[in-house]
Amino acid sequence: MVDMLNTVNIDNFGNIDRRDFLGCLAVALGTSSLFSFDSFADPVFQRVDYVGKVCVIFDDAGGAKESVTNLEFLAREEVSVTIALMPRSRYEQDILDALVKYEKAPIDLIIHQQMEFIGMGQKGRPASMLEVNPREPGEKFDPEKHAAIIDSDSATDAQKILSYNIRRIDDYLVSSGSSRRVIGFNNHTGSLLTQKVDVMEALGRYAADNNLVVVDSVTIASSVMYEEARKAGAKAYKRNIDFIDSDHGNKKSSILKLSDCYGKAMMGFNVLAIGHLQNAETVREYIKAVRRDKGYFRRLTKF
Ligand SMILES: [Zn+2]
Repeated sequence: MVDMLNTVNIDNFGNIDRRDFLGCLAVALGTSSLFSFDSFADPVFQRVDYVGKVCVIFDDAGGAKESVTNLEFLAREEVSVTIALMPRSRYEQDILDALVKYEKAPIDLIIHQQMEFIGMGQKGRPASMLEVNPREPGEKFDPEKHAAIIDSDSATDAQKILSYNIRRIDDYLVSSGSSRRVIGFNNHTGSLLTQKVDVMEALGRYAADNNLVVVDSVTIASSVMYEEARKAGAKAYKRNIDFIDSDHGNKKSSILKLSDCYGKAMMGFNVLAIGHLQNAETVREYIKAVRRDKGYFRRLTKF
């Protein structure tokens, strides 16, 4: 776990939360009116130089009907969150309609860019895990049907596909009168593609040129997505804690993992976590965690 946390980029450490933290502490101690925070210098508290932040991204938006219901729930509750939408997924339109309907909800939208995984096409691992109309081997990308980046795509093709996916969704938001825009992307699957330096470099460059945030979901330890995006000058993060619903959205395990995120933030680490929007229990526990620990849980633009 220590190794994992060491991968947190030092640039990401926040320094604005200390006062909030001390303020909460003072209120908890019932001493808020007794001292000014600016002159607060009790040595007992000097070890706390800063507190960290937690960003939970909810992946696979658009993949299952439940992802739409859960997004609407988050929006109605006005909970700060980041969702990752799979372009050309079965419920993409419903997700977009919900985002337009809840225009003012504090939701950051990123693209959950589908990328080929190791063993795709083999038994039990169909390409339909990527998108509704997957490409046949050798088939060229058709922007009216496809969204995924596959192994036969060049780095230039990959950049075009990502750019097409983002523009199509942004155009829809514009035409619907929404001011929300896609602010970045992460990867759906991609254990094969995220190891390809030229492709990841091209995507990172595109992100840097278009002011997009890159999040490496780290579906394989040898992914170079984060490193290449950083090298290209993009703002980038990588998942640095276990998927919060790797136990299929089991309530108990989601609670434990969210409190692990919170505990690490209290210790001063920034935590980038990923869950899945179709898991109602995880979403419910996330809402509770945000309410309870106000200030630690941030969406991507505030991370
Ligand atoms: Zn995914």
